[in-house]
Amino acid sequence: MKIKRNVLLNPGPATTTDSVKMAQIVPDICPREKEFAAMMDGIRKDLVKIVHGGEDYTSVLFCGSGTINIDICLNSLLPADKKVLIVNNGAYSTRAAEVCRYYGLPHIDLRFDIDALPDLQKVEDVLRENDDIAMVYTTHNETGTGILNPIREMGAIAHAHNAIFVVDTTSTYAMRPINVYEDNIDFCMASAQKGIMAMTGLSFVVGKRALIEASQAYPKRSYYCNLFLQYDYFEKTGEMHFTPPVQTIYATKQALEEYFREGEQAKWARHTRVFEAIHRGLDALGFRDVIRRDRQAGLVVSVLYPDDPHWDFEKVHDYCYERGFTIYPGKISATDTFRLCALGAIDEKDIDDFFVVLRQAMKKYDIAIPAVYK
Ligand SMILES: *Cc1c(COP(=O)(O)O)cnc(C)c1O
Repeated sequence: MKIKRNVLLNPGPATTTDSVKMAQIVPDICPREKEFAAMMDGIRKDLVKIVHGGEDYTSVLFCGSGTINIDICLNSLLPADKKVLIVNNGAYSTRAAEVCRYYGLPHIDLRFDIDALPDLQKVEDVLRENDDIAMVYTTHNETGTGILNPIREMGAIAHAHNAIFVVDTTSTYAMRPINVYEDNIDFCMASAQKGIMAMTGLSFVVGKRALIEASQAYPKRSYYCNLFLQYDYFEKTGEMHFTPPVQTIYATKQALEEYFREGEQAKWARHTRVFEAIHRGLDALGFRDVIRRDRQAGLVVSVLYPDDPHWDFEKVHDYCYERGFTIYPGKISATDTFRLCALGAIDEKDIDDFFVVLRQAMKKYDIAIPAVYK
């Protein structure tokens, strides 16, 4: 079967290999079969291995998009009468603060500018003033802007104040190397369609087994999205509590084989090549990015719209889309931006090809090259 190859420059789902796409085509199977449980067991172990966790870490699978992990960690890992500290410099940590509001979880939403790194002294001050904070939560790579947060330092501060450290690593996991011990991570998370380059529908939390077991005693705030309940079901039966995304799990198994074959360092080097090619292409067309380059996580570039009356994101998007390249709108409320991302099974050549098409689009719609800014 010949499948059209699209180059996705959106922040996930990512471009996948044909072998991962085809891995979904399997005989029908009931996921309660032992064969299926054995496959999930292997996947759970591999997911811990990717972030270099040992026996004291485990992973728990869920059926849902990445946001389910945010929901699960916040609602499941907070003891009664304790508080969450959200270190917030972007859209995804804002989402976490919203989850807290919807569950009525006591929390402090400590906000910083979206283009600035969090002030760790302030984080420490808040922890000192609030000895009821049991969890510090942040986002590793704020996918809306592409800024990289200093998780290692933040985790050390959290631990010094007896709080657990939960990080949304959805847009770095299996791309930018992570080591849960060195990075002081108690819990991290991702979903199968991003760094692993599999399909949508499977998400997972990787974290400390002892902390999950301790959370058995915490208030149960959700029936479907509780970390301990899902973990316990897996440990006792090898199965997800409710129906898993069967075909996505087959694709994930294949994608993990390909991940380990490519290797952590080689894969990160490839994403870096792609990221640098994106910057080269943007520079050549005169575009400006939102985040200082030395603060970017190396995976997402957030680009300012030019101040050009002919600039029309929709038209440029459609022109590129029709030629197999997908670009993505921004996620910053106060500024008009679009994003180009270095995820997925793509390489430098794809980016060079994309910029040929983007240049054509700009010429077609009379958008000035180099791009103009006031
Ligand atoms: C993609 C992403 C998510 C999950 O988004 P979904 O649309 O629910 O898959 C969560 N956090 C970050 C940082 C992400 O990049």
